[in-house]
Amino acid sequence: MDSQSVGRPGDTSIVVIVLETDEVYIIASLSTRNDTQVIYVDPTTGNLCHTAKKGHDLFVSESEALNHITDGSRWLCKSTTHARAIMGYAALGNTGMLLLATKVTATIPNMPGGGCVYTVSDSEWIKFQLQNAYLQGKGELKNIQELAELDIDGKYYFSETRDITRPFPSKYSVQSPDLEFVWNTWLSLPFKNIGLPQHCVVLLQGFAESRSFGVSNQRELTVALTARRSKLHPGTRYLARGLNACFSTGNEVECEQLVWVSRNAGQNVPFSRYIWRRGTIPIWWGAELKMTAAEAEIYVDSRNPYRGSLQYYQRLSQRYGSKNLDTAVNISQKKTIVPIVCVNLLRSGEGKPESILVQHFEESLNHIRSTGKLPYTRIHLINYDWHASVKYKGEQQTIEGLWKLLKGPTAAVGLYEGMYVSSLRQGEGYQGAVIRCEDSPGAFSLSSFQNGVIRYNCADSLDRTNAASYFGALQVLVEQCRRLGHSLDFSGSLDFQLGNRFSSQGNSGAYAGPLPPGWEKRSDAVTGKTYYIDHNTRRTTWEHPCPDKPWKWFDMTFEEFKRSTLLSPITLLADLFLLAGDIHATLYTGSKAMHSHILHIFTEDSGKFKQFSVAQNVKITLQRRYQNVIVDSSRQKHFEMFLGMRLFKHLPSVLRHPLKVSSRSPACILKPIVNMFPGANDGADLLSFRKKDLIWVCPPAADIIEVFIFLQEPCHVCQLLLTISHGADSSSYPALVDVRTGCSLDKLKLVLEGVTIPQCPNRTNMVIPLTGAIDSADMAVTGAGARLQSQEKPSTSLLYGFEELEGELDFLTRVVALTFCPVSPGRIPLTLGEIEVLGVALPWKDIFAKKGPYLKFLELEDKSQNSTNPFLSGSDIIVSDTSSSKQNSSVLSSTSVSLPHGLDLLTGDFVYSQPSPEPEVQEVTHEVGSGGLLDFFLDGTNEEKHPEQQCRLSSSQVATSENETARKHYLSYVRKLCGPDMARKPDFLQAMKLEIERFLLNLSAAERDRALLSIGVDPAMLDPNRLISLSYIGRLCKAANNLALLGHTVFEDKIVASIGLETQEDSTVDFWNIARIGEYCVSSGCEVHFDAQDHLRPSELPFSGSTAILTCSICQKNVCKVCTAGRGSTLLVNRNQSGPTQSNGLSSPGGSSHGGSSHGGQSDGSMISRAPILDGILCKSCCPDIVLDALVVDYVRVLGSLRRRSRADNAAMQALSRVLDACVGGHSFGIKHELGHQQGAEVSRMQLKNLLNQEESLAEFPSAGFLYSVETADGSAPALSLLLPLDAGAAGSYWRAPSDSTNVELAIVLGTLSIVSGIILLVSSCGYSTFDIPIVQVWASNKVSKEERSYLGKWDMGSMVSASSELYGPESSNVQKELPRHVRFTFRNPVQCRIIWLLLSLHPPSSSSVILEKGFGELSLQGTMMPSRRNSFGGSAQHTPCVHARRILVTGTPVKSDSTREASFHNSDKINQRAWLERPPQLGRFKVPVEAERLADNDCILEQYLSPSSPGVAGFRIDALNVIRPRVFHSPTPLDMDASDQPLTYIEDRHMSSAVLFIQVSVLQDQSGEVIVGEYRLPELRAGTPMYFDFPRPIQAQRITFRLLGDVAAFADDPAEQDDSGFGAFPLASGLSLNNRIKMYYYADPYELGKWASLSAV
Ligand SMILES: [Zn+2]
Ligand SMILES: [Zn+2]
Repeated sequence: MDSQSVGRPGDTSIVVIVLETDEVYIIASLSTRNDTQVIYVDPTTGNLCHTAKKGHDLFVSESEALNHITDGSRWLCKSTTHARAIMGYAALGNTGMLLLATKVTATIPNMPGGGCVYTVSDSEWIKFQLQNAYLQGKGELKNIQELAELDIDGKYYFSETRDITRPFPSKYSVQSPDLEFVWNTWLSLPFKNIGLPQHCVVLLQGFAESRSFGVSNQRELTVALTARRSKLHPGTRYLARGLNACFSTGNEVECEQLVWVSRNAGQNVPFSRYIWRRGTIPIWWGAELKMTAAEAEIYVDSRNPYRGSLQYYQRLSQRYGSKNLDTAVNISQKKTIVPIVCVNLLRSGEGKPESILVQHFEESLNHIRSTGKLPYTRIHLINYDWHASVKYKGEQQTIEGLWKLLKGPTAAVGLYEGMYVSSLRQGEGYQGAVIRCEDSPGAFSLSSFQNGVIRYNCADSLDRTNAASYFGALQVLVEQCRRLGHSLDFSGSLDFQLGNRFSSQGNSGAYAGPLPPGWEKRSDAVTGKTYYIDHNTRRTTWEHPCPDKPWKWFDMTFEEFKRSTLLSPITLLADLFLLAGDIHATLYTGSKAMHSHILHIFTEDSGKFKQFSVAQNVKITLQRRYQNVIVDSSRQKHFEMFLGMRLFKHLPSVLRHPLKVSSRSPACILKPIVNMFPGANDGADLLSFRKKDLIWVCPPAADIIEVFIFLQEPCHVCQLLLTISHGADSSSYPALVDVRTGCSLDKLKLVLEGVTIPQCPNRTNMVIPLTGAIDSADMAVTGAGARLQSQEKPSTSLLYGFEELEGELDFLTRVVALTFCPVSPGRIPLTLGEIEVLGVALPWKDIFAKKGPYLKFLELEDKSQNSTNPFLSGSDIIVSDTSSSKQNSSVLSSTSVSLPHGLDLLTGDFVYSQPSPEPEVQEVTHEVGSGGLLDFFLDGTNEEKHPEQQCRLSSSQVATSENETARKHYLSYVRKLCGPDMARKPDFLQAMKLEIERFLLNLSAAERDRALLSIGVDPAMLDPNRLISLSYIGRLCKAANNLALLGHTVFEDKIVASIGLETQEDSTVDFWNIARIGEYCVSSGCEVHFDAQDHLRPSELPFSGSTAILTCSICQKNVCKVCTAGRGSTLLVNRNQSGPTQSNGLSSPGGSSHGGSSHGGQSDGSMISRAPILDGILCKSCCPDIVLDALVVDYVRVLGSLRRRSRADNAAMQALSRVLDACVGGHSFGIKHELGHQQGAEVSRMQLKNLLNQEESLAEFPSAGFLYSVETADGSAPALSLLLPLDAGAAGSYWRAPSDSTNVELAIVLGTLSIVSGIILLVSSCGYSTFDIPIVQVWASNKVSKEERSYLGKWDMGSMVSASSELYGPESSNVQKELPRHVRFTFRNPVQCRIIWLLLSLHPPSSSSVILEKGFGELSLQGTMMPSRRNSFGGSAQHTPCVHARRILVTGTPVKSDSTREASFHNSDKINQRAWLERPPQLGRFKVPVEAERLADNDCILEQYLSPSSPGVAGFRIDALNVIRPRVFHSPTPLDMDASDQPLTYIEDRHMSSAVLFIQVSVLQDQSGEVIVGEYRLPELRAGTPMYFDFPRPIQAQRITFRLLGDVAAFADDPAEQDDSGFGAFPLASGLSLNNRIKMYYYADPYELGKWASLSAV
């Protein structure tokens, strides 16, 4: 190995520290920067955190950072890992995984133009447990474990400074690589998301190494061999062969041979580069390995084996066509033909299994030619049966034969040659194209180009491919050296003489071949004799530097070549190929390359190698067999997980966007919490992860404990995470909790009431999911709320949430109030542990900076503002046929913008808004689709057609009336289906279609139910869940779930397939193609007429649908769009057709062994792993009913998800409008600045700096906020705008109080505990008058209690500023001042506090100051003030003065590390506390014997029968269920974009509709019949954790019944434990079974029970 020493000064250094507290810090000092960043891993969620604040996580040096983290080694390190690079990170549920390169080797040092390629020689995964209580199954945990087993060392490489994913030299920066060759795109995302993309290297798989050699004592040459493995078809030998849905082949590699002349720094570096490609045959084929047969059976897809071949060559043509170099102007714009030469080394002899592939290969090329779709690409196929040739002609002749075939193509394709010029000025003097690379100081001057590519293949693209490409490449190497002026020819001297002879004959016969880069040919002015100048070395010579004929070595025989060529470079190249071959073989087959002795053929002792290799080959054959049969599928899984593919299958519960912990410091506790022991702090410890072992003991007198948390930033709260904490007695932890949330202390809303907290072991992490507050009116009519009240038998919405209750979404939630109640008040002290609140925050930083995808989002929203303003309405639900499309259009268009090529990846449809038909004016009609149902949110054109909606003034009224219209529409649909008197009961499909209309009308379930109840219809009658049999629901759910997974598979493939291609598909049929109510077939051209009959008379329905006629791929009939099944149907139909026995049916070549051969889930696994391309369509007659139904179910699920998404987006926009000024100057959010934003920000920064005068601004939103809501006048800027950064918000806007309030109190919670020195009030643009200049009074405090605040002073601004009139009157606009108009209040002594109270009051009208200055005041009021104030108040005649201001700045310095004000316990206290905590409970829990038990209702009901003599039951124990919540529940929506496109906020479905399970307990006593004792909400806990629920009082009963209720359908089994036996009877997860999960107990004194007690403890 050409290794360089590791750890040079200036190298990247990564240190990962795990503290004793289990906190993880990544300390990165990059070679490309000269500072050090610290990335903190959130210990609960695993999110990476970096704020780029100096002294906090940005440091001058590594040692400074280390010192900060360990706080001068006060915090001990559990482990420290040093590394050279970060390769990736992922937070996977409960586990964080960080991949480090601990040792790297500089395998290509000093590339021309600088930069180094490092190969990872040692790697390490750092794994750590996260604190969230994720429901994760064993299978998932196993998969996470296995991800770490992926073999990295020696097979991955990277460059920190140069883009090496494209052929050398790339003009792109290292940060914009070609994704086809980047293997850690997914693993590097977390770093991109925190704005540190360069901290994770761009990782390539394959081989990169270089060798230097000298030629006859001349300067040294270096040859570098780089092999980039494509990630488009990753995987192992038997699972990744031929083409896949991403148009790529298995074992696909791009190889690059770069030769350059080593020069001193600053000198020009001539280089020559040659590219070739290798991979398996680009058609759909596979091989089935049979345990019994010796050779694998090869098969080719019988249906359409050449689909995707075209795109494959298209991609090659784009990459290797010289016209596509995007280099420079000098290359002609003319279309040149790109040759692609395939060298096929397969056995073509009769009867050989591979010969079928040879035939198909040829056929595939004919097929492509026949399409005429690649007019500028010529594909040639050279068949060369390598094995046969070696067998019959011997190795030497085989090589010679290859050379003969390769000469023409190689010369035609040519070399890419040029020179690196270190300074640009020099570069300008050279001819040809110039490439300037972003990451290199100089430029590349190019003299010739490679056009096209040679592609080698054998069956596996392994041994034969490696050998043949070596013999091709060595010819190129010799030519490359020659052209660089370093002939490898032994007989060179002879040739030179020859050249001289020619030249002495008057130059006539002089060989006029091309000169090496940097050379020039001139003629002697006197003799006319030609001479040559080497500008590189500034020497001249008479001799042509490379006199030979190009490519002459190709014509030699093997012996001639060996005799006449300098062999040492050839041997070096052989070494490189041997190493590379082993890498490719190992990655593909798990074993080294075979048959590689032929690479030693030029070495003298090649015979020895041959002997050796026979034994070697046998061994490798055996190894491969083992690998391929046993571990291929698991290695396949490793690759997929590494790439972030198919995670919905491998890690189904893992969220894409974990929540954020918002309750950590600098969040604070607003009201002190008492502790039994003095010396404890006020409760801040309860929020600190570092105190996670804390047991907070409240005095026994406390009936309840109230915890008020002020979050570190506003967010939508989704989860409460409690750490159960108690002493020996588990009953000291509270038994109930109420949760209230709000944007301020006076706006709290009850979110959860009386949620039971079971007793659990110490340190249990328990998640209580929270939705926003649910409207009690909604609760009354629908959902679990309504159902649980009644005694009717609960039904579960198994297909989808028919009764979904929607909680309010509020991204400005700031205060969370928890009320804990003890088991038995006053009996024992209460204990508490760490409390965490998790939520989703808006990206305020980016919003204020007006950058990133948020700007795009805002701009789109801004445009839509021109017609409507959805967030102005009081409700987040705006309903009408058209407004629903508007609401969604903004959502969709924001994401569709970044879609590759504007394609809906799922359907192939263009998602740019299509011209849609005129909306119908009739009451209940709608346009019949132009491009599928999802049109409803695609069209952005409708809105212009409703001018009456463009100016909504009182929007809440309008919303109500729109809502009313939507309801009417909905009800008329109901009447159409059920008849005017509701006589007809709708069938399942009709009920589903009603639901589709409901979603399209954007009605919530509660609104629907209210509408139905208003006409006396029981909503349950229209519940599709109740309209089909339970067993059919079971099968249907399975089918729909499979469809969802297949849909995601196809979707992922589409994203990957779009890499490097500009594909355009079109289709009129989308994934679902659901006909709406009243849409039916009337087309005369249709031969299917599936939906022809309807309850509606044809005359009622104008049919305006698409007249496109398609052909069914099964019955070949003509079919109209309405009678066509959605494209998704082909997925399910294919799946059913190719069972495990039918793998040759070939919907998924080679895939049948995937999914783990250990169990029988082959068909399932293979389909998910390698779904077919969505091609062909089915008519509804040929499509099984269950598939059609599954499509409808999936579609409704998708619509539900889209509704949630649009609700989230509306909530986000509402939050923005409550912070930023929404309506000043017609610009929402002030996006459009008069100045460029950059300039405006610059001015604001300068102003802020001048204002602060070395201090910090302590009260800036979003870290600061108001404790109480602030009175605000109508039409004013929102109160929070007072705290915004200076440059945020609309220019000229300001906040003002209602005119009737003369006193306004503002309680500002600072971003962190601070020492405050003063306050600055920025004056509104309207300026002050004598009447509204306020008196300011200030207090400071740490807690909310007003009594404890300290008075800091009173300032009468009127008297302060009377001398200067600068603050009076309106501001002259557009003047960029060094300081904005302001008043400063400086405190006599700085004060340490968290809350600043500000009272702004107006002078009472009769006060003396007003009288004194009346004259002036009246003058200004009459003169300048009135008109301007009119203007600024929007024309309202507003005479009364009011309190107003533009901004409030609080200045001072934050207190460093306030988090750990140590609780100063006295020793005696500690001992007391421990003694108290360790006191065991007096009573123990003992098992109540059960006489008999019975399970019912799919194990969701457990009945336990007790004997009359048994003790009273005090409670029951249940172990946490072993289920997961899968992330994928429906096929992807157009909004499910890849992570590179960011919506305004990430909030996953599951956090908006939280699935909650309840255990309902009822007892059968003697006479009274069955009585419900209680309902116990089950929190989320790790599987198997015991939970103890005490009953209110002991129960004596004959029978106790436990029922599992709630959203059971939202849970699934762990993939490893899933029953793959096909379409089972019931859709529920088996992990929900109550079998053996519940034990009843009673309390007794263990001493009294004696020895027997230990046996029956529960
Ligand atoms: Zn039809
Ligand atoms: Zn058909």
